[in-house]
Amino acid sequence: MILILTIKCGKCKSKIIKYKKIGKGKVLRCWESKIKRIYDGEIKDNKLFCKNCGNKIGIIKEDDIRGNYVDMDRDQFTYSGKKIRK
Ligand SMILES: [Zn+2]
Repeated sequence: MILILTIKCGKCKSKIIKYKKIGKGKVLRCWESKIKRIYDGEIKDNKLFCKNCGNKIGIIKEDDIRGNYVDMDRDQFTYSGKKIRK
């Protein structure tokens, strides 16, 4: 299953990123290679922030095999999305 998610800031509701998620389950990590668009997200000091209100959404980490990802802070964002393929 492939989902296209719009991840929003949990505080000010600004759109942060568009993310292509494969499989069900919670959004815990956002892999750099699957971030399709950056809206009001800003990367500073290896963290992902909301440009609008400064909320910290997650921390950039590195996986030796799969590359960089954002370790998402699950209390600091919301998301909505649609299924594009089963
Ligand atoms: Zn915000």
